[in-house]
Amino acid sequence: MLIDCGLFQGQEESRGSSAADLAIDFPIDHIRALVVTHVHIDHVGRIPYLLAAGFDGPIICSEPSAIMLPEILEDALKIGFTRDRALINRVLELIRARVVPLPYGRWHSVFEEEAGSLKVRLQRAGHILGSAYVECDAVSGSAAERIVFSGDLGAPHSPLLPEPAPPERADRLVIESTYGDKNHEDRETRRYRLKAVLEHALEDGGTVLIPAFSIGRTQELLYEIEGLIAEFGDKEIPQATKGSDPSGSDPTLLPAANSKLGAFGVSPQGDRPRSGPRRESLTWNNLEIVVDSPLAAEFTKIYRDLKPFWDEEARALVAAGRHPLSFEQLTVINSHEDHLNAVDYLAKSHRPCVVIAGSGMCAGGRVVNYLKAMLGDARNDVLFVGYQAAGTPGRNILTYGPRGGWVELDGERYDIRAQVHTVGGYSAHAGQEDLLRFVEGIPQPPSEIRIVHGDEAAKRALQGKLQKVVPEAEVLIPG
Ligand SMILES: [Zn+2]
Repeated sequence: MLIDCGLFQGQEESRGSSAADLAIDFPIDHIRALVVTHVHIDHVGRIPYLLAAGFDGPIICSEPSAIMLPEILEDALKIGFTRDRALINRVLELIRARVVPLPYGRWHSVFEEEAGSLKVRLQRAGHILGSAYVECDAVSGSAAERIVFSGDLGAPHSPLLPEPAPPERADRLVIESTYGDKNHEDRETRRYRLKAVLEHALEDGGTVLIPAFSIGRTQELLYEIEGLIAEFGDKEIPQATKGSDPSGSDPTLLPAANSKLGAFGVSPQGDRPRSGPRRESLTWNNLEIVVDSPLAAEFTKIYRDLKPFWDEEARALVAAGRHPLSFEQLTVINSHEDHLNAVDYLAKSHRPCVVIAGSGMCAGGRVVNYLKAMLGDARNDVLFVGYQAAGTPGRNILTYGPRGGWVELDGERYDIRAQVHTVGGYSAHAGQEDLLRFVEGIPQPPSEIRIVHGDEAAKRALQGKLQKVVPEAEVLIPG
């Protein structure tokens, strides 16, 4: 059985950027089934190549993942595989035909033969919608073993999704370690920090740019922002005095000018007076939220449709009449033309605005155009909410700006004057303590733990901690 089949990211890409590297470089004839833990591209991106290589088994995944998998792969195919629509459709049809949606908590037999058998069960991993960890019951002759693959585990207290519960048993555990050496801020702290960054945007009419993956973080952020608007909606934000601005581009903002950003064609000068009375105060209700990504919009819709998989808090909000993922201040940008207009408009108009765009590590996608237009202006803010892999522009912005730093985008150098923030908790990955609690929570400790999916330092740090927490286990870092 194969667990996940993803694309490389960041520095790893040097191993996986050419078509030859994307090809499946391991034997597949003996693989009976593919289990997908969740639909992030670093876990599913090479499935089309797996099929092309001749894999003909089922693709087992949770029910939400079964809905999202063809969507994410369609996007990946369009970007990296081919422009041939008919070929894309054939691949997608094949994937739809192979997908076996498995409800959480239900055992499923992969095969049962005289010599041995294999069953799998998916449990909620709390990472993104549909994410699962995989319990496997493997029987070979008279030997039986329970092996658990963590997939990506979510952070407890993340918005929208219930947190993962430790498995009831695991003889052998394969666990991720993305944040094996770090802990996250608690939810209140990061909510407070998100609020502070957004208030800063409201004060000086800057744009807060949030590079985010289409699935998971975008929806968590929308959920938190909707909560802030609901709580502070009418609260006035003190306006920063801009002093003399020779260009005359004082970011005057009137609540009346808060028409939806849909009208991007409108000249930014058109909706604000060049002189005249002091502008009126702003409230949280004036903050515009833009999701500039057709894919993120699509997944936000899927998240909205799958409310039964939300956690209790989120479902209670819906019951109380709130719309956590579709609120008044939210604008979605689909077409490329609207995207370019939005970049241009926001760079000039200085409206307080939050833009969520991909890619999450700034290595491509629409966020790059925003960065080019916005990094040079101190009024703007870049807010990182997710892991930035070594070698990505995101990691460089985080490391070098804005203390005289610069970043290279599409071969050109851009100075960073925008403020750079990071709020760790929206990463959707469990932090070190969460990973340890997950392992400690297994009633009978595993005899072997394998650490995967993390930087070298993160793996080592987690290994050290796990050896103390479960001394009876052999803790390995597979090479
Ligand atoms: Zn993931």
